[in-house]
Amino acid sequence: MAPAQNPIISRHVAVIGAGAAGLVTARELRREGHTVVVFDREKHVGGLWIYSPKAESDPLGLDPTRPIVHSSVYESLRTNLPRECMGFRDFPFVPRGDDVSRDPRRYPSHKEVLAYLRDFAREFNIEEMIRFETEVVRVEPVNEKWRVRSKNSGGFSDDEIFDNVVVCSGHYTEPNVARVPGVKSWPGKQIHSHNYRVPGPFKNEVVVVIGNFASGADISRDIAKVAKEVHIASRSSDPAMYEKLSVPTNNLWTHSEIETACEDGSIVFKNGKVVYADTIVYCTGYKYYFPFLETNGYMSIDEDNRVEPLYKHVFPPALAPGLSFVGLPAMGIQFVMFEIQSKWVAAVLSGRVTLPSQEKMMEDLIASYATLEALGVPKRHTHRLGKIQCKYLNWIAEECGCELVEPWRGQQVDRGYERLVSNPEHYRDEWDDDDLIEEAYEDFARKKLISSRPSHYLETGR
Ligand SMILES: Cc1cc2nc3c(=O)[nH]c(=O)nc-3n(C[C@H](O)[C@H](O)[C@H](O)COP(=O)(O)OP(=O)(O)OC[C@H]3O[C@@H](n4cnc5c(N)ncnc54)[C@H](O)[C@@H]3O)c2cc1C
Repeated sequence: MAPAQNPIISRHVAVIGAGAAGLVTARELRREGHTVVVFDREKHVGGLWIYSPKAESDPLGLDPTRPIVHSSVYESLRTNLPRECMGFRDFPFVPRGDDVSRDPRRYPSHKEVLAYLRDFAREFNIEEMIRFETEVVRVEPVNEKWRVRSKNSGGFSDDEIFDNVVVCSGHYTEPNVARVPGVKSWPGKQIHSHNYRVPGPFKNEVVVVIGNFASGADISRDIAKVAKEVHIASRSSDPAMYEKLSVPTNNLWTHSEIETACEDGSIVFKNGKVVYADTIVYCTGYKYYFPFLETNGYMSIDEDNRVEPLYKHVFPPALAPGLSFVGLPAMGIQFVMFEIQSKWVAAVLSGRVTLPSQEKMMEDLIASYATLEALGVPKRHTHRLGKIQCKYLNWIAEECGCELVEPWRGQQVDRGYERLVSNPEHYRDEWDDDDLIEEAYEDFARKKLISSRPSHYLETGR
């Protein structure tokens, strides 16, 4: 879409959330000349990366009235991406040699990510735009504008009118609990990974972990350090799948899916194996959830977790550009996605870039659904971009005239995921892509984003 010829317009914009997506969105909106108010119910910036030892009262997160604990981070969590490709593009996530309290590892702990986001907020003076401890409880369109109702920690409610609302409220808080046949009468404990923090409570237990991707792989190994046995149930093309893993603790097995859970405490896997378990841990992902959003039925989230209708996962056609979403797709380079999507939103709101007509956006969306179906992609993966993430981001980047994703970034993600799958125990500490690390630091140096020589990081930054 060609840049529009209109004069640049400044809008009054509400941003919901001060996690990584909300922080960079606020920055991009302000850079484009908009005035911004960011709402967050927490006391600090960082969203998901604010670790809380406290978990929710309902371990499966099924009770809609439960007090929410936003973060799903567990104590031992380290990033699942190398830091070079994870950070925002003009504020690289490099080790801070000047501060001994920081974690210089290539895949650092969650504390280092939070520290990085705080650095980012400080560097760009973002906190001055944020209202902390203020929850958005309702967002609705009124006369071409948007009414935002918020409630602060003192119980004070306020209604304000904004030209636009950008939703950056995250999507890793509302558990998706896999259906296990027979589980209603199974007598053991059940918990979703959202409420998992430390392995201690599983000492000497037999534990079944459902799900074997990033969180499942991590949590099963964390629990195996203290448990008697850990059995991982994973979606596998081979129902007979069964393997004992000798690392890291010699008490870990992988199985195909669960066939049924029984009243006598046993769990039967599709491979025919039976274990008597104390606890099931569901590492089965999350649901999109926007309880504050009132669109008179225009938008919905179906049972397959598809948020619709959303043009390019950002704009609901009939409500665009009044309402937009930054951070919805699940992909590797999340922070870079937030940055590029928010540049697009900022440019559309100012009139520098125009969106296609509502009809054209719907046509595009329907065609994209048809393509997914023809490719056999399950509906529940609508917002999972996987291998097409760089293509998607580059399309938006071209649309709003910003730099395309550096090829080394996409390659680091791909190589990192290959390592995660082939070597889940050690993928964070053993790698074979030094060439890509070098390329990243040379790129940062060329763009004058780091003050030391690239070789300094290569020598010391691990
Ligand atoms: C276990 C786990 C590990 C991960 N590891 C990585 C990793 O290694 N690398 C990576 O790049 N990504 C990782 N991710 C993805 C991660 O979620 C994103 O990187 C990113 O931090 C999400 O940012 P966000 O701003 O979209 O959401 P969040 O960080 O969740 O922030 C949303 C904010 O919105 C606020 N909020 C929500 N609702 C309201 C409301 N109604 N009113 C006011 N405020 C509200 C919340 O308080 C929160 O501060 C991981 C995710 C999980 C679950």
